[in-house]
Amino acid sequence: MNNESYIAIVGGIPGVGKTTVINEALKIARAENFDISVIIYGTVMMEIAEKNYNVKHRDAMRKLPPRAQKEIQRQAALEIAERAKGKVVIVDTHFTIKTGIGSFLQGIPSWVSEAFHPKLLVLIETTAEEIKKRRELDTSRARDEDSLDLLMEHQLLNKIVAASIGQKTGALLLVIPNRQGKATEAGRVLFENLKAMKA
Ligand code: ATP
Ligand code: MG
Repeated sequence: MNNESYIAIVGGIPGVGKTTVINEALKIARAENFDISVIIYGTVMMEIAEKNYNVKHRDAMRKLPPRAQKEIQRQAALEIAERAKGKVVIVDTHFTIKTGIGSFLQGIPSWVSEAFHPKLLVLIETTAEEIKKRRELDTSRARDEDSLDLLMEHQLLNKIVAASIGQKTGALLLVIPNRQGKATEAGRVLFENLKAMKA
């Protein structure tokens, strides 16, 4: 069995539509009989936090000391790399995470990208106005009310971080606009690039 993994890291700021676009790509993949798995980084971190740190809720995980959070993040990377062996895998995650006190946590520090050997880095983007509106309309989640300037700054920071991961890993970089009502089109672009990873 070929144990090589084909990992695509999909990031973008909260509420931009990562999960929506990934689901669109999955629908196309199913129709074309192309096998793709999705792993949500935060979910694997939560599994480890529950097991090793007695954390009961996702929000409690964010309140652990940064050192504990980084350790959970490291363990999750190893677990995901293991699960990805021999597969095409989308990792649904964030390139940077707002801490609430002005700084940003690295979503993919070097020890994570070294565990992943990603082949593709995908940024889902749209305008600050659309992100703001989507967050307001999405009542299923407790979302931050960031200013338009902060949304743009965070999005730009993600792009810079993704480019720097691309430099270090040699992974291809893909920016997908997820415009209003165009998630299917964005999903198609994602799917075509996932397929190309194995070609
Ligand atoms: P998080 O990082 O918090 O997981 P996310 O980036 O995965 O967020 P989603 O949950 O996919 O974001 O989408 C946020 C909201 O925006 C949802 O209500 C979704 O239906 C809506 N949305 C996503 N993409 C589009 C689009 N192209 N047009 C209109 N609405 C969209
Ligand atoms: Mg999501």
